[in-house]
Amino acid sequence: MKLPLVVANWKMHGTQAEAATLARQVLNGGRGIRDVEVVLAPPFTALSTVSAITIDSAIQLAAQNVHWETEGAFTGEISPKMARELGCQYVIIGHSERRRLFQESDQAVAQKMVAALRSDLRPIVCVGETLRERKRGKTNAVIARQLRAALKGVGKSAIEKVAVAYEPVWAIGTGRNATPEQIAAAHRWVRDLLQRLRGKKEAERCRILYGGSVRPDNAAELVKVPEVNGALVGGASLKAEAFLSIVRAFHSESVAES
Ligand code: PEP
Repeated sequence: MKLPLVVANWKMHGTQAEAATLARQVLNGGRGIRDVEVVLAPPFTALSTVSAITIDSAIQLAAQNVHWETEGAFTGEISPKMARELGCQYVIIGHSERRRLFQESDQAVAQKMVAALRSDLRPIVCVGETLRERKRGKTNAVIARQLRAALKGVGKSAIEKVAVAYEPVWAIGTGRNATPEQIAAAHRWVRDLLQRLRGKKEAERCRILYGGSVRPDNAAELVKVPEVNGALVGGASLKAEAFLSIVRAFHSESVAES
């Protein structure tokens, strides 16, 4: 069985002290939840602080981005090796904010995927359409293009390390959640693509997360959607109680299933 994966993307929020407080609250409030994998993605500057707090717990850490090279003249970037050294097991790759605001291309995403896996970092690769693309009926084509590109250098044996986050751009940070039907259709499509690209058995091991205005009040509905294996949470992850109630929704669902 795939353990649900719930990821807190803190984006560019929090000093080290604030991140430490939030991490402690999540750690203490989440004690006893063993059937959900919880991952925190603080800003780079808070990674080592948060790592020191979570090190002996089941909580894992993610970087919000990495460069594809190991070292070099890349001002402002950090390498997968550096993220690993700071205690990260995961990395978010190709978030729509990076694609949109920092012109990150499909090719850059592909390079980062390969580099992350080479350094033993598990990629959480984000795909998803803009509102304009959805209105034009291009949702599936956009997801397929982004996923094909991202997996270009990822072989069959590595695919189980990859999580795909379906994040419709129009639902991120807008309070506008995709409907269960829209989420189910997109996740089915991602699963089909994974199977076609890397084989049925291998694709089954991949977790597909939903992201886009996930909150405590819509999490219970989300966990029931087929092929939703977790969530990537932005805004609601900045309040420990809100984030934990999303984690608990996945916990209750796993308990109900077993
Ligand atoms: C995100 O940043 O990936 C995200 C889903 O943000 P929010 O939950 O705020 O929509």
